Amino acid sequence: MSGLDLPEVISVDDVPAFSDEVDVLVLGAGMGGCCAALEAARAGASVLVLERSAAAGGTSCLAGGHFYLGGGTAVQRATGHDDTPTEMAKYLTAVSRDPEHDKIAAYCTDSVEHFGWLEALGFEFERSYYPEKAVIQPQTQGLMYTGNEKVWPFREQAAPAPRGHKVPVPGDTGGAGLVIGLLVERLAEAGAQIRYETGGRRLVVDGDRVVGAYWKDVNGNDGCIRAGATVIAAGGFVMNPDMVARYTPQLAEKPFTLGSTYDDGLGIRLGASAGAELKHMDQAFITAPAYPPSILLTGLIVNAEGRRFVAEDSYHSRTSGFVMDQPGAKAYLIVDEAHLERPEFPLVPFIDGWETVDEMADGLHLDRAALRATLDRYNTYAARGEDPDFRKSPEFLAAQDTGPWAAFDLTLGTALYAGFTVGGMSVTVDGQVRRPGGTVIDGLYAAGACAANIAQDGKGYASGTQLGEGSYFGRRAGRHAACARSFPV
Ligand SMILES: Cc1cc2nc3c(=O)[nH]c(=O)nc-3n(C[C@H](O)[C@H](O)[C@H](O)COP(=O)(O)OP(=O)(O)OC[C@H]3O[C@@H](n4cnc5c(N)ncnc54)[C@H](O)[C@@H]3O)c2cc1C
Repeated sequence: MSGLDLPEVISVDDVPAFSDEVDVLVLGAGMGGCCAALEAARAGASVLVLERSAAAGGTSCLAGGHFYLGGGTAVQRATGHDDTPTEMAKYLTAVSRDPEHDKIAAYCTDSVEHFGWLEALGFEFERSYYPEKAVIQPQTQGLMYTGNEKVWPFREQAAPAPRGHKVPVPGDTGGAGLVIGLLVERLAEAGAQIRYETGGRRLVVDGDRVVGAYWKDVNGNDGCIRAGATVIAAGGFVMNPDMVARYTPQLAEKPFTLGSTYDDGLGIRLGASAGAELKHMDQAFITAPAYPPSILLTGLIVNAEGRRFVAEDSYHSRTSGFVMDQPGAKAYLIVDEAHLERPEFPLVPFIDGWETVDEMADGLHLDRAALRATLDRYNTYAARGEDPDFRKSPEFLAAQDTGPWAAFDLTLGTALYAGFTVGGMSVTVDGQVRRPGGTVIDGLYAAGACAANIAQDGKGYASGTQLGEGSYFGRRAGRHAACARSFPV
């Protein structure tokens, strides 16, 4: 059996009896599913969540805890950062490969309300700002830049503002688990049930309409649930080698896959079995950050031809995305002695140091003249605070003209790249799953990493958009599903 196989749908006529009947059935208790379930329950629907594993949280529990929020949140205001829904929308539009304007407008207009909704679960984002260029705040600072807002051309398309709001848990991973724990408590208060170690395996259909799902639990029990609406919130597909090989081959073999066991794309395949259109399936977040320290970004990144190809001050996954496009996915970060420091994360290996540029070219197997020309041009302009080729911000421009020189290896297969998928089911602003052509599949919703919303382009990814959109559009899906809850008898 291939990991690309679609589960067969079951006709309602072939179901002798249902194990449960609920208004809203949610498949998956991660960020998307828990938010959908909570809003549906608060809207008065009877809600049942099936969760394949023994605990809630899935990949969300691994996440560092950035939520991409803006438009004037309390943290932005307290730390002196002006932002408006309009500027936020301009930015998200600029970094999208196929912007869905209704979703971007809703996400940005409602961002302050959504910030408040998240905090009302029972925590507070710290009213503090982390000013360094980093992958994630090292402690509990509430806000930092987590995208390309200050990077050209985006800084000219929207007024830059930091929007990476971090859950107040120190460290690189696990922060969002705090929010999942609170969601589970709020779900219990709202009367929603979570059934663990029980997976949705097939969808039940009545003609064109989805009317529930077939489930199986860890003990081999099974049955069918009848539901007025079914929300698939079952995560991405990075753990499915067949889907990765087909859709995101850059994640196959060499990079370390970031996800939980059940990121096997079953949710996406369930949707496809009922006719869902899939979008942005070729896109992935993939990264091997060279910074912090940010002084390394004063250097230059060259490909196997000795040429620059990206503004080095780009958000780390944008830089990595461009590395993937280079011949052999080979790239080197070069700095001179005055700007050399060790990366804080040992993901990008130090290659060597050389007394002359020609020795460096030989050591990196690059054409001597090409590397000399690239370095000379970069240094000439950097000394004046200019970068006519990639418009790197003056903050990160410094001539690399004092030997010896050092290089770090960004090459795929040498640097430790990690990644996850961002593509999934095409959905409306309210999470209704769409067929190719745009009609919606009645009774079927999707949220979180198995749906395609705002995070849709690996090079434009900003940390926090996955948890941000999973929670926000999950809420919308839950509310809409609750309205559509009365199932035909
Ligand atoms: C290390 C790491 C750090 C990250 N940091 C951030 C960050 O700071 N900010 C950010 O925005 N994003 C971050 N991400 C990405 C983000 O965590 C995920 O995209 C997001 O959590 C996905 O949420 P979800 O609800 O769609 O999926 P999940 O949280 O994975 O939830 C899906 C759930 O569905 C269950 N499930 C699967 N199949 C079925 C089925 N058939 N029936 C029932 N249940 C099923 C799974 O067990 C799982 O519990 C990070 C990812 C990783 C790996």
